[in-house]
Amino acid sequence: MNLLVTGGAGYIGSHTVRRLLGAGHRVTVLDNLSSGHPEALPPGATLERVDLLDLEAVREVFGRVKPDGLVHFAALIEVGESMRAPARYYRNNVVGSLNLLQANAETVKAPVVFSSTAAVYGDAESTPIPEDAPKGPTSVYGETKLMTEQMLNAFERSHGVRHVKLRYFNVCGAEPGGQIGEDHPNKTHLIELALLTALGQREKMMIFGEDYPTPDGTCIRDYIHVVDLADAHVLAVQALADGGDSATYNVGLGHGFSVRQVLDAVDEVITADGLPPLTREVAPRRAGDPPSLVADSRRIKEDLGWTPHFTDLREIIRTAWEWHRQHPHGFAK
Ligand code: UDP
Repeated sequence: MNLLVTGGAGYIGSHTVRRLLGAGHRVTVLDNLSSGHPEALPPGATLERVDLLDLEAVREVFGRVKPDGLVHFAALIEVGESMRAPARYYRNNVVGSLNLLQANAETVKAPVVFSSTAAVYGDAESTPIPEDAPKGPTSVYGETKLMTEQMLNAFERSHGVRHVKLRYFNVCGAEPGGQIGEDHPNKTHLIELALLTALGQREKMMIFGEDYPTPDGTCIRDYIHVVDLADAHVLAVQALADGGDSATYNVGLGHGFSVRQVLDAVDEVITADGLPPLTREVAPRRAGDPPSLVADSRRIKEDLGWTPHFTDLREIIRTAWEWHRQHPHGFAK
């Protein structure tokens, strides 16, 4: 297919672009490069440096590229920042998505694969969480993603644009080989921060809250490898190309690990390389963090035949470690 991939220069986007090219698709990446890296793109992808807030520029790309499928990653992604700067998040994530959907509806009406998030569930009543669990984001970030999901429903009703919503749990790891990996302008993700601390770029790891209603008091998350997540996108694109109906899928492993368990696994990986274990300090809770998010991902396995290959947390962390060790300052020269 002729795919337009927004946010394709970002962490999940760039891993997915590689998989999409590998599956034989043509890929144009639309990215404002506010946090993405052109160096993360493989030679086969074409980059259009465009901001989704610029509706005219987005329309121009649709008119020229005439995509027959969209994969929409571009968004601001930090839970904590979204609580401090809600306007920025609503504008960027909601208005940006609206512009994309509008330009698409006016022109090609291509089906959409959308990056949604487990954050739409908020404080889940029970885990693992199925797709039809009640929604109630606890962060502005989660709200912007839920609002975009609702817009997708509306554009299907009014314009017949089909979509697949993929609700990601905690994405981590890197493509084996250390060529590309996680490199956000603000480092907030647990595993990335832990590995940068191991490299001596930070003094210690903060544990945000140890008074959650979980066995060890720290938050539980479901950590899914970015390559397995990229594969889920390739399957979703194909399902829509084959005429499949709109669908919503959780993408996670179905196992939860607490913050302490993740840091224990990081310690195992880095001490095997002769480094000392990380220094840890307990800090207050971070605003917007639900206690536990674990996926029930049976639906995507049954419908699309998705199978995660990275199921061991240490192995997942090792792939990220390979990237960070080879690129201690990310994509920066
Ligand atoms: N976390 C932590 N210390 C850090 C970064 C994150 O304790 O330095 C916790 C965070 O509060 C959450 C979990 O680790 O409970 C995963 O956070 P992350 O930012 O990686 O992903 P999120 O769940 O926000 O998507």
